[in-house]
Amino acid sequence: MQEAVTMADHKIICWDCGKVITDQYADVCPACGGLLTIKVDLEPLKAKKPKDLHKVPIGVWRYADFMPVDPKNKISIQEGGTPLYQCSSLGKEIGINNLWVKYEGANPTGSFKDRGMTVGISHANEIGAKTVGCASTGNTSASLAAYAAKAGMRCIVFLPSGKVAAGKLAQAMFFGAKVVSIDGNFDEALDIARKLSEERSMYLLNSINPYRPEGQKSVLFEIMDQLAYDVPDRIVLPVGNAGNISAVHKGITELKEIGWIEKVPMLTGIQAEGSMPITRAFEARKLDFVPEEHPETIATAIRIGNPVSGRKALRAIYDTGGCSVSVTDQEILAAQRLLGRKEGVGVEPASAASVAGAKKLREAGVIGKKERVVCICTGNALKDPDTIISSSEPVIKSSKDLKSIRKIMSQ
Ligand SMILES: *Cc1c(COP(=O)(O)O)cnc(C)c1O
Ligand SMILES: [Zn+2]
Repeated sequence: MQEAVTMADHKIICWDCGKVITDQYADVCPACGGLLTIKVDLEPLKAKKPKDLHKVPIGVWRYADFMPVDPKNKISIQEGGTPLYQCSSLGKEIGINNLWVKYEGANPTGSFKDRGMTVGISHANEIGAKTVGCASTGNTSASLAAYAAKAGMRCIVFLPSGKVAAGKLAQAMFFGAKVVSIDGNFDEALDIARKLSEERSMYLLNSINPYRPEGQKSVLFEIMDQLAYDVPDRIVLPVGNAGNISAVHKGITELKEIGWIEKVPMLTGIQAEGSMPITRAFEARKLDFVPEEHPETIATAIRIGNPVSGRKALRAIYDTGGCSVSVTDQEILAAQRLLGRKEGVGVEPASAASVAGAKKLREAGVIGKKERVVCICTGNALKDPDTIISSSEPVIKSSKDLKSIRKIMSQ
């Protein structure tokens, strides 16, 4: 007989109407159709200080007191604890003197998705799920496949056909997931995954699952630790499904609630021009957005027309006095290259959107010269080798003789 698992004290509640949800497989509120969120009892943290958590190395599980999963039940491959680089050369180039990059490409599977996945899969294990699944533009599937392998669970992933970067696809296949390519875009693949979850054929681990953002909020806690709780003026990040910006906002709200911070950073969400429902809604000062039917961008990780956490993202932006702006594919590629060439940091296109957005907002005077800005760069350059190869100078072919090589060197 299996031992009963003790779970961390928490509730799933509806973000819209506040109702407590007991169905573990629900992905929306059964009463009002609203978005779900999680309430962890933060009362014990009010008596603590950030340093009290430092016995545990930096990473998602340092912040277990904020998580809805008992760390005794954790399934982890040491996610989080990523570098926060001060980028003076890049900063000089784009006119922001105090610029930092939180490099999420250093996570175990190369994107921030691992932060949410460790918490999500740990909870899946607590409730006895045997099969997990997701729809994905690539990184969620790569991450889920790895964590399912670690947990010994079956994994099925649904990808939009032909639009998944090579590195991400390779990871999902390599970690042993059943990989299904859907003849449709991400939003359509997600509809399928949600139906299968409704039928209980699998436990859904997209960011609509409220446990995922719980892990993802740890990026904010790490930034605060790494800056010794000197709150930055602004945090800039790419927005696709809007899970990450909502999670960062939840982290900020929680730190405020327990009295660890007073000031809040302005959350600034960057979208790609061909896929910008949140930016449009922000520009019209709306609380809700109109989905984009045919999202297009080279930044495939944010090629999402109907962001599941879009309304949460808008609240995050309004609540913190931030903003949303869109960038073109050309601006994304230029920023990706600049980050690589000035700082030696390789990120995938969607991640570079944050830097491209910061540059654009600085030029428009929205970001002040003296602002302390943290750009979250969400994923590793190697996720999408095709894009970086085609945007770099070609390889030089040469014969073996030194003479021709000297000639090449002098050019
Ligand atoms: C998932 C992902 C995003 C978008 O994050 P959302 O939470 O969907 O807004 C951005 N960049 C990368 C590299 C991603 O994998
Ligand atoms: Zn509700």
